[in-house]
Amino acid sequence: MDVRSQVAMVFHLDKCIGCHTCSIACKNIWTDRKGAEYMWWNNVETKPGTGYPTKWEDQEIYKGGWEKNGDSVSLKGAGRLRGLKNIFHNPHMPVLDDYYEPWTYKYQDLFNAPEGNDQPTARPVSLVTGETIDVKSGPNWDDDLGGSPDYGRQDVNLKDLSPAEREAMFQLERMTFHYLPRICNHCLNPACVASCPSGALYKRGEDGVVLINQDRCRAWRMCVTACPYKKSYYNWNTGKSEKCVLCYPRLESGQAPACFHSCVGRIRYLGVLLYDASRIEKIAGADDKELVDRQLEIYLDPFDPEVIKAAKANGVADSTIEAAQKSPVYKFLKVWKLALPLHPEFRTLPNLFYVPALLPGMAQVADGVYDSTTQSLWGGIEQSRLPIKYLASLFSAGNTGKVVEVMKRLMAVRLHRRGETVGDLSKEEIGAAMKEVNMDGETADAIFRLTALASFDERFVIPAAHREESIEMLENTADYKGETGFGFRQRPARGL
Ligand code: SF4
Ligand code: SF4
Repeated sequence: MDVRSQVAMVFHLDKCIGCHTCSIACKNIWTDRKGAEYMWWNNVETKPGTGYPTKWEDQEIYKGGWEKNGDSVSLKGAGRLRGLKNIFHNPHMPVLDDYYEPWTYKYQDLFNAPEGNDQPTARPVSLVTGETIDVKSGPNWDDDLGGSPDYGRQDVNLKDLSPAEREAMFQLERMTFHYLPRICNHCLNPACVASCPSGALYKRGEDGVVLINQDRCRAWRMCVTACPYKKSYYNWNTGKSEKCVLCYPRLESGQAPACFHSCVGRIRYLGVLLYDASRIEKIAGADDKELVDRQLEIYLDPFDPEVIKAAKANGVADSTIEAAQKSPVYKFLKVWKLALPLHPEFRTLPNLFYVPALLPGMAQVADGVYDSTTQSLWGGIEQSRLPIKYLASLFSAGNTGKVVEVMKRLMAVRLHRRGETVGDLSKEEIGAAMKEVNMDGETADAIFRLTALASFDERFVIPAAHREESIEMLENTADYKGETGFGFRQRPARGL
């Protein structure tokens, strides 16, 4: 057992209101720089939709992530040697059109336009060329299903649905969607790290945050191709690649990353997981249908004396072990089994997990009366307007059973709380739902509390930083804002 610690995350999708506050918080801190205008280290997509960059999930186009190779895995399209062959033309690299051409507006025209009969307007100008442009796409162009069916119908997760099922999803009265906020997953098996010919990418030991050493990056951009989530970006101004740093200077001072801190819906949770690094290769090479269960196996019980002993032997600090025992992520993921990884079939073992959105409220008109009894309001899991097959394509490599399990647990909590607060459900109905998922009232209340009422300190359990391990915090990070972002340093040479 090779026990290490990882800062991991849960996003509760039922709570996301799609406000993009998280994206703006990140943009203001990290990517409001020349060359980084088009980057959204945190972005929020509407599903169904094609996302940012367009169709990022389609690895037939981008060849990101790993593919199964016997019991192990190999990079799908961006191995060091394979990548070097494409050095002058990489057909799998997203281009600016796949992201969008960033723009601003000529605001001065609003003030300086000569007097006339028409209102002055601020025309869009490209942040790349400075020329006036006709805006044709943006990072959230299909927000709230805007532009569907053109965009929504292109979603690659619809591939397992029959034409009739697809059609049903886009009928106006049945139309539904959910938001999908995304950041770098700080994966256990990061394809970006494995693909870099310069060894510039590394996963730091104390918390598993994946970083790019700007001094070593040689602009090969293999990481851009290799990351199946398209969360490594190329800065055309500095000639270096960049990615989400999980606000590590904030983490080191006990603060949640900016996108977590600012989240209006309070959907985000952050905490430590202890994992067994010796199992990574085997688990990454598991069969598709087993990927979710096998990935959960890699995370260890932080209360197990054997695990604690092995963690200490590996130099994991006592404060980190304590944080792992209080981790909200551990509860959602392992204790309550409510969270799933995004596209586990990419085999990077992502450390950002999602509680999928439960059914939307349903109602029907019968005999001219709007019927909103509890039964028809929520119906059964099977009547979900977001097809289970669609959710399985997102969160369980097509294993519908995994999504149904989670949905039933979420529904049991919902029915239990309805019984507690409104009291219009029979004890039998609630009891049957709870029994089916083997849940008691105390657990349902604890899930409800962490979901709906949790304080800041319950949502973010961040271990105390150790100055001796955190070389970066010895310098004043604010001095570097405006260069290439906080924390991108000549020193330290960690990971070399
Ligand atoms: S999400 Fe992409 S960039 Fe982030 S660690 Fe995983 S492979 Fe690397
Ligand atoms: S700030 Fe929170 S609620 Fe708003 S879009 Fe981001 S994740 Fe969703």
